[in-house]
Amino acid sequence: MGMVHVVVVGAGLSGLTAARDLHRAGVDVVVLEAADRVGGRSMSETSALGSRLDLGGQWLGPDHHRVAAMAAELGLTTYPMHTGSIPAVLDGARRAKGTTMLVAALALVGVAVLARVGTPKRWNRVTVDQWLRRVPGRRARRLLEVVALTSWTGDLDRMSVHAMTEMIGRQGGLVNILSTKGGAQETLLVEGAGTLAERIAAELGDRVRTGRRVTAIVRTDAGVTVRTDAGDVRAEKAIVAVPPPVAARIDHDPPLPAARSALERNTYMGSVYKAIAVYERPFWRGRSGGECVVLDGPGSVVFDSTAPGGPGHLCVLIGGPAARSLDPLDAAARRQAVLGPLVAHFGADVLGPVSWHEKAWHRDEFVGGGYLALPEAGTTDGFCPMSSTPTGDVHWAGAETADHHPGYLDGAVEAGERAAREVIAALSLRPTP
Ligand SMILES: Cc1cc2nc3c(=O)[nH]c(=O)nc-3n(C[C@H](O)[C@H](O)[C@H](O)COP(=O)(O)OP(=O)(O)OC[C@H]3O[C@@H](n4cnc5c(N)ncnc54)[C@H](O)[C@@H]3O)c2cc1C
Repeated sequence: MGMVHVVVVGAGLSGLTAARDLHRAGVDVVVLEAADRVGGRSMSETSALGSRLDLGGQWLGPDHHRVAAMAAELGLTTYPMHTGSIPAVLDGARRAKGTTMLVAALALVGVAVLARVGTPKRWNRVTVDQWLRRVPGRRARRLLEVVALTSWTGDLDRMSVHAMTEMIGRQGGLVNILSTKGGAQETLLVEGAGTLAERIAAELGDRVRTGRRVTAIVRTDAGVTVRTDAGDVRAEKAIVAVPPPVAARIDHDPPLPAARSALERNTYMGSVYKAIAVYERPFWRGRSGGECVVLDGPGSVVFDSTAPGGPGHLCVLIGGPAARSLDPLDAAARRQAVLGPLVAHFGADVLGPVSWHEKAWHRDEFVGGGYLALPEAGTTDGFCPMSSTPTGDVHWAGAETADHHPGYLDGAVEAGERAAREVIAALSLRPTP
């Protein structure tokens, strides 16, 4: 495949942002993407009614300025998510009892305070699962479990309380993480967030090569050789824009420094299933809100992501082991398992969407899961922002390395911009051959 200045590994939003900035700076760049599509953890589809929807990252928070600016530049339209007051908590056919809500709310206040003041390091060995078992009340525990699984997607016996509170601090506080209006779930894109990657890839044209899984990177005094099954690319620099546990599948010669290997070894991708059910209209409005937390079945959170004037969209998120529990089901049984528990709140109409879209991200061969890479309980390597210290001519991007909003679309953009700047600065210092 020849020689270029820079090879970017991974055509997610971060890698594409880096490649776009490099290209605009006159740097010869190629993006190698393992999958047959671009976008990574962002992915938009078109419903049977013509509306666009997101199966991956979708919301922009109020201070997600980088991704908002990119969306505006690419001609995308934002809209505030339709949101009511407090989401309903469905416990079977009924609303959850006041005591359940009160105990869960008090426990969440405790978590928010811990995230603010910081937890001692020894809490890195206490898992969220162990902490939850101390909360009184089976239904309150179940509510907290569903909120935690859908917020972070890591298995709770694999996630430390210290990691959870660190993450809350880094992601702008618990209120921000859980909120719609004024929080991380505030704004959506009519065309879908996956369109960001699609449009940048279109700008870059044949510089983006899909179906090219990078298997190895060789570092020499003359730069890097990036290996794929379809041939090698030689370059002065590489940017790996793949989350650390997924990047762990790439061999390095010479081997990576110990700290980088530990980061790749001690992190994992969360498990998450997302579905969008599309209806002729948002029939639930007026009689019930579209937002709820469902304790029955796999346990889910539901949002009304309908665009203004568009068909009704219900967005369902399921995290952790509950997401994996859907994997063995056939498509019809899975849909029933996801929508069945919603009948009590939305009525039987909820079972008949015109268009049904779903994705189990932990089953995506190249993405590995979502929302983000998480630190294994008891380890200290994978707290965000994850290290982006270059390894010789290999630079590291990806949402997990961002200083602001790590793990979010905005973080992916920040990290891509930073990696491009880093590489441009380093290339400009090199003597011209
Ligand atoms: C279900 C879900 C919901 C989410 N919701 C939100 C949200 O509402 N708001 C928000 O801001 N964020 C959300 N996120 C997170 C957000 O989508 C991610 O932070 C962001 O898309 C990460 O982009 P990235 O470029 O860093 O990584 P990725 O998108 O993971 O890109 C990495 C790319 O590298 C490719 N790759 C992997 N290995 C190789 C290899 N060996 N060779 C070549 N290519 C390789 C992958 O195929 C992938 O395309 C969500 C994520 C998921 C999964």
